[in-house]
Amino acid sequence: MSYDLVVKNGVVVTAGATYRADIGVRAGKIAAIGQDLGGEQTVDAAGKLVIPGGVDIHVHMQMPLGEEVISSDDFFTGTRAAAFGGTTTIIDFVEPGPEQTLVEGLAARRAEADPKVVIDYGLHMTIGPHEIAKLDQVQAAYGAGCGSFKLYMAYGFRLDDGQLLRALEAIRDAGGQPVIHAENWDVICTLIERHQAAGRTRPHWHPRSRPAALEGEAAGRAIDIANFVGLPLHIFHVSCAEVVERIQAARAAGRPITGETCPQYLFLTWDAYDAPGLAGAFPVCSPPIRDKTHQDALWRALARGDLQMVTTDHCPFTAQTKALGLHDFSQIPGGVPSIEMRLAGVYQGVARGHFSANRWVELCCTAPARLMGLSQKGDIAPGLDADLVLFDPDRRVTLSTAFLHERCDWTPYDGIELQGWPAATISRGEVIVREGEFLGEAGRGRFIARRITPP
Ligand SMILES: [Zn+2]
Repeated sequence: MSYDLVVKNGVVVTAGATYRADIGVRAGKIAAIGQDLGGEQTVDAAGKLVIPGGVDIHVHMQMPLGEEVISSDDFFTGTRAAAFGGTTTIIDFVEPGPEQTLVEGLAARRAEADPKVVIDYGLHMTIGPHEIAKLDQVQAAYGAGCGSFKLYMAYGFRLDDGQLLRALEAIRDAGGQPVIHAENWDVICTLIERHQAAGRTRPHWHPRSRPAALEGEAAGRAIDIANFVGLPLHIFHVSCAEVVERIQAARAAGRPITGETCPQYLFLTWDAYDAPGLAGAFPVCSPPIRDKTHQDALWRALARGDLQMVTTDHCPFTAQTKALGLHDFSQIPGGVPSIEMRLAGVYQGVARGHFSANRWVELCCTAPARLMGLSQKGDIAPGLDADLVLFDPDRRVTLSTAFLHERCDWTPYDGIELQGWPAATISRGEVIVREGEFLGEAGRGRFIARRITPP
């Protein structure tokens, strides 16, 4: 029996097991896992770990921020960088216009993404204040493939607690999965005003206007409202120990609450905001990067199971765009590029002995796929999409803008050394990156209509 492609001689690592085997691929699917398989094309994985393609369920490609500003990776450059880093599926966002229905908003966002994506993708539907009048459309959005819905407790997208309740009820009735940006916006606005009035305008004051205790309070409030409504809730970009505690407590009580953290919180500390000049503005993101005790707590939470996954919140802005906030930290467009280093970054938890390679795969591939209804992704088993990464655990890399492929003229990880890096990335049976060379093409990725499986 011959296959289109065989990945030979590798050590297969899934969330549940580690074993030596060949993987046979036919028509873009994993067709067989066994010994001495033969195929038309062979990829030698000797010395490599063979893992499911990475799944990053929180990215912002070409995201508009007001009239003039847009995140600097588009759906081509961003998904190409993802592929270089071993990620084969992303979930981005629909932000419907005020005059659009939710399904029209979805169609418009797909029209931006479809010609450009290199890897497969899904979309979360954003429910902002304009969408509260459209909650009767949530079911239709779910039916059109938006299995998950993004809610904000901050920014112009902010919902008040009553709106949050109503949105969660509509998402529950449609069978969807809500994801939330949890921060206490009223406190943040008040602290920002106070800092500005006192002339405290450097990025140093950015984390000091968004206290960890109030991120914990907001997450706890969102969890309580979700529990009252009776549906699962996923907490985005957990930056601090206080939110970990809320998630841990909810899960201990049997509640279907999950949380993610991101590389910026695992690799940087808030000293980064004290870098001179514009450099201090680069790592501005929200929630903010915090001190080392929080960073340590997040690594511990990943190891213990108190956080369920690592995503990126990838949202790069160029140095020129970041300069919009040079004289006022509150005007700095928030977001950092992390999509390419996530998989190797989290592997440092394995290299340093914090958790197993199986846990690494669970955090970066399997858990996000399961939560988001990506039923063909995140695992290695016959019948699933042949999204595979050959990961070289012995390669050492030093991160820099020259090394990375994200469209951004700085990286917050400049000079950071990582052990392990992807040697090849396979998407639906097609080798799209091999030994640092991009072999894919714009538009080969597909939109994935998702339905959520209740936990
Ligand atoms: Zn985000």
